[in-house]
Amino acid sequence: TAELLEARDLARSYMMHRGFLGRTTQVRAVDGVSLSLSRGETLGLVGESGCGKSTTARLVLGIEPPDEGAVTFDGTAMPRSGTSNWAALRRRMQMVYQDPLQALDKRLTIGAQVAEPLDIHRIGTSAERRERVAAVMAEVGLQPHHAARHPQSLSGGQRQRAVIARALVTNPDLLVCDEPISALDVSIQALVLNLLMDLQERSGMGMLFVSHDLRAVRQISHRVAVMYLGRIVEEGEPDAVLQDPAHPYAQALVSAIPHPGKTAARVILQGDPPNPANRPSGCAFHPRCPVATATCRTEVPVLKPRRSDGRRVACHVAHGEAAPARAPTMLET
Ligand code: SF4
Ligand code: MG
Repeated sequence: TAELLEARDLARSYMMHRGFLGRTTQVRAVDGVSLSLSRGETLGLVGESGCGKSTTARLVLGIEPPDEGAVTFDGTAMPRSGTSNWAALRRRMQMVYQDPLQALDKRLTIGAQVAEPLDIHRIGTSAERRERVAAVMAEVGLQPHHAARHPQSLSGGQRQRAVIARALVTNPDLLVCDEPISALDVSIQALVLNLLMDLQERSGMGMLFVSHDLRAVRQISHRVAVMYLGRIVEEGEPDAVLQDPAHPYAQALVSAIPHPGKTAARVILQGDPPNPANRPSGCAFHPRCPVATATCRTEVPVLKPRRSDGRRVACHVAHGEAAPARAPTMLET
């Protein structure tokens, strides 16, 4: 296919110690995720913490192997991490993490760290590397004199610009951003978001933007996928999914964003927050779902296009396959 990235039925479990007896249980962090991404496209991946967003990002990059499923990057099956084939692909896929201070080494200058991927992948002569580093630093809005500085002497926004410069220095085809603005001051979040949009548009790379910030995701994404307990429950255009969601969980998530002039009622979720170690049967959302039916407790809903408008959603009620058990629990805001 012409897709840049294709992930099919990814599953990943971890062993986790639980309780004071230290019993280990298997936790299914990602449970059958399929997604695709084209060149020039930004896919926003949203959901609460623990829903499997970050694990999905690592599986997509091949940093971790999936237990089940497969990832194809630009027509090539993702090689095992650590192999030379993987290293060759890896320079075409880069990652921007949440906390720039953690992502950077305090002992090294910004210039040296931005150059790192070129060194690792042995790209260019040292003169060419210097030139590329200067160019990419200018692209992200850093000054030439920042190259000689250390991370501690830069502001949070400048540090994240340096992390982005390092990710882009190899001209990647895919950029994976995991909560790239959530560790930044609110005042500079918009600047970094606009920078990412601008860079993505100019380079035509594909971008996977993982975040719990629905407003940022709506602004930056061409397509949005909502995750709940390791699965994608709804997927579509940002304006559709984030303004008029079809899945009851997405409805609750969206209704929680305050904004002026909003008239829609706020959906209050009942029950415990999602816990991958204790995954409910059937639709994993059923203990918290205001419209759950008996079917929801036993049958896993499949993510598929809705007949009426083609929206991809995994919900028995949204597909009209089960009548809502009772009226949604609503509270006027
Ligand atoms: Fe709610 Fe049932 Fe839809 Fe799950 S399948 S979101 S429990 S209505
Ligand atoms: Mg995370």
